[in-house]
Amino acid sequence: MGLLSLGTPLAWPDARELSEHVRVHGIEQFLSVWRRMRDRQGDAPLWGDELEYMVVALDPEQRTARLSLRQGEILQRLAQCDDSDVLGTCAALPTFHPEYGRYMIESTPGRPFGISADELLRVERDMLVRRRLTRERLLPNEVPMTIGSFPRLGVTDTAFTDPPHEAHGAASHSLFLPDEIINTHVRFPTLTSNIRQRRGSKVRINVPIFRDTHTPEPFVDPTIPYERELFPEDGEARAGAAWADHIYMDAMGFGMGCCCLQVTFQASSMDEARKLYDQLTPLTPLLLAVSAASPTYRGYLGDVDARWNVISAAVDDRTPVERGEAPFAGAGAHNSDTHARRLRKSRYDSVDSYLCENDEARACNDVPLEVNEAVEQRLRAAGVDAVLAAHMAHLFVRDPLVIFSENVDLHDATSVDHFENLQSTNWQTMRFKPPPPGNAIGWRVEFRPMEIQLTDFENAAFSVCIALLTRVVLELGVDWYMPISLVDENLQRAQQRDAVHTQRFHFRRGDAPATAEYTLAELFHGTDDLPGLLPLVHRYLDTQPIAAASRAALNEYLDLVGARADGRLMTNAAYIRQFVRSHAAYRHDSVVSDEINYDLLSTLDAIERGEKEAPGLLPAGYAARRQGI
Ligand code: GLU
Ligand code: MG
Repeated sequence: MGLLSLGTPLAWPDARELSEHVRVHGIEQFLSVWRRMRDRQGDAPLWGDELEYMVVALDPEQRTARLSLRQGEILQRLAQCDDSDVLGTCAALPTFHPEYGRYMIESTPGRPFGISADELLRVERDMLVRRRLTRERLLPNEVPMTIGSFPRLGVTDTAFTDPPHEAHGAASHSLFLPDEIINTHVRFPTLTSNIRQRRGSKVRINVPIFRDTHTPEPFVDPTIPYERELFPEDGEARAGAAWADHIYMDAMGFGMGCCCLQVTFQASSMDEARKLYDQLTPLTPLLLAVSAASPTYRGYLGDVDARWNVISAAVDDRTPVERGEAPFAGAGAHNSDTHARRLRKSRYDSVDSYLCENDEARACNDVPLEVNEAVEQRLRAAGVDAVLAAHMAHLFVRDPLVIFSENVDLHDATSVDHFENLQSTNWQTMRFKPPPPGNAIGWRVEFRPMEIQLTDFENAAFSVCIALLTRVVLELGVDWYMPISLVDENLQRAQQRDAVHTQRFHFRRGDAPATAEYTLAELFHGTDDLPGLLPLVHRYLDTQPIAAASRAALNEYLDLVGARADGRLMTNAAYIRQFVRSHAAYRHDSVVSDEINYDLLSTLDAIERGEKEAPGLLPAGYAARRQGI
C-alpha cells in the first residue's frame, strides 16, 4: 500500500504547509514521465496479482483466534528466502511486502505472468508457494489467512490481538483499536494521525447491523465505551458519530486492516492502458459482488457482504467543508483549504471518469468531476489532452498525507515521489499507472475492487478470469461504456448482503447503446440481449491454440466464477454468515463471539488446507486438488 520512504514524517500542521509544493512538483514529475513515455509502444501483456494475508494465532486449548502482531519478524524471515526455497515449484522467488496492519503480509509473484494458457496455469501454484513460504516462517500455532475482515477486530471485552494491547493510542485515538495493530513503519501511524487531523475528527464508519431474530431493536451497541474521556474526540461517539442499528467504528485500521485481491496489467501502450481502464471500470462492481468476503465487523454480523464502504469511510480525510457538512470558510482559509470545495467522495472510492478520448466516454462521464484547476491548466499547457488532464487534476484535489522532511526538494526529472504520494493515496476501484523509473515496465492499469478469497484456487480463478477479460476487451473489441453514475450505483448494490440473489446491476445491453438491469447470473452467463462475460471469455479461448487438458484446467476457474455468480456456490461472505448463524453457540443476536470466531477461523483454515470439505462453497474436488498440489 503505497510508497515506503525512509525518514522523518512531518506532523500534519507542517505537512499541510507543503501540500501545494508536493502537488506542483508531483505534476511536473508526472509530466516528465508522460513526455518520455507517451509514445512508448509494444510492451508485452504481462500481469501480476497482490494477495493480502492476516496472520492469525489459533489456540486450540483456549479456543481463541487472535491477530498475531509479528509482521516485522515474519517479513524479515521471508526476506531471507532464496531460490532453493522454491526450486522446481515456481518460476521465480516471490516477493513479500508490509501492509497497513501489523498482522498483515502481502505477496506478489517474483516474475509477472504472461497471458498464454501455460502462463495462466502458473498462477495458482505460484500463489500456493507464497502461502507455503509464509506458513513455514510462522510459529506452529499461526496461520496465514486470506479473509477479508477479521470478525473481532476492535472488540474490547476480550483480547483480539496477540499480545493484547489497550486502545486509545496517539495515532488513531480509537475507542477500540490500539495503535499497536498498525505497521511500525512511521508512514502508517502518520497516515492514520494526519487523516484524523486533516478531517478535524476521528473517521466515522457505520455499517448497518444484520438484523437476526434476537437482535435488539433498536440495536444500540452496549459495547461502546462511552465513559472513557481521554481524548477530546472520545465524546464523538456519544455526540452522534455512532448510529443506532449500526456497527460503529472509529479508526483507519478498521478499513485498511481488511484484505483484498488486486491485479495489475501491463498494456502495450498508453492508449491501450486507457482503453483497458475504461472497459474494466463497469466490471468493478460485478467482481466485488461475486468475490464478496467481508460480512463481519467488530464482533458483529453486518448487513453488508463486502469491505468497500468500510475502507472508504476509514480513510475519509475530507474536512467538514469538503464533506458538505459546514459552510465554506471563505477568504482567510488556510492554504490547503483554498480549494476546499465540496468533494463528493472519499479518497478510497469508485473512479469518477473514463479515460479515453472518444464521444462515448465523454457522454458517459456524467458525474461532476472536481479538479484542481491549476494542475489541469498546467497539464493542458504542456500538451496533455483534456481527458487525461482532468483525470490527474481530479486525483490532485487531495492533499498529500505523509511528507518526509528529507524528501521535500527532489529532482522532478528523476524522482516520482511527489507524484506517487498523491497517486498512491487515491485508492480507487481502478488505477492508471504510468511507467515507473527505469525502462523495464510500461503503462499499466490496476483492477482493485475484489475481495481476497479463502483459497488460492479461488484467488487464481478470479485473477485468471480478469486476465482473460482483458483479452476479451482487446481482442474481441467489446464496448461496455455506461454512465459512471450507474457504475457508482452498482458499486453500492454490490456490497449488499447476498447481492447474488437480491440485486440487479445496470449494464450496457449487447444489442443497443442503452443499459438495462441484470442479475449477476445474467451478466456472467449471458441472456438474449447480452453475450455474458464468461461466454465471451470462452469465445476468446476458442480462438487460441490450447491443449485440451489446459483448457479443461482453465475452465475449472471460469466455472468457479460462474457458480459464484449464479448462486450454485456461495460467496465467501455468504458462507461465513451461514457458519456463524448455524453455530451452536450463536444466539441469533448478530454477535460473533470469541468461541464462534475460533471455530470459524479454524474451520476456514482446515478448508483451505484441503482437510475439510466445504460443500456449497467450493467445488467437490477442492480438497483432493489442494492436497495433490
Ligand atoms: N487492503 C486494501 C483493500 O482491501 C488495499 C490496500 C492496497 O491498496 O494495497 O482494498
Ligand atoms: Mg496491498
